[in-house]
Amino acid sequence: MKNCKEIKNLLIEYYYDEIESSLKEEVRTHLDSCISCKKEYESIEKTLNHALEIKRPILSDSFKDDFYYGIKEKMNKKLLQSYKIWQLPVIVSICLLIIFVTINYKKNNIDEIDAIYMALTSPEISDTELSDEINTIANEVIIEELLVG
Ligand SMILES: [Zn+2]
Repeated sequence: MKNCKEIKNLLIEYYYDEIESSLKEEVRTHLDSCISCKKEYESIEKTLNHALEIKRPILSDSFKDDFYYGIKEKMNKKLLQSYKIWQLPVIVSICLLIIFVTINYKKNNIDEIDAIYMALTSPEISDTELSDEINTIANEVIIEELLVG
């Protein structure tokens, strides 16, 4: 035979008829003879019956639309914010890098041409140095053309 504590632990399962028939019979017999457990069962019964009566609210279509639209809106805003936080500096950096490289590339080319011109037109340059310089430049141009072509 089970004591009151054991019976009380079974009352919810008993209510939902989720215990095997032998146990069910034991609980029923106990409830008939024990006022304390019977009172507890009646209390549980009342509460659970009441819970069953509570209906889930029916949501209107407009509520659903507003709700989902609101959530979507918030998610989009969050997404946009996260874009702003990390993407803008990256885009700016890439743009600056492209501009820097482009300008530097052109500047380097101009500097190089200037340097070559200065070297070739320098009055201190000797004839051998000049011919060496021309040879070097000619070789560079040939190599460059070979590489490109
Ligand atoms: Zn009892």
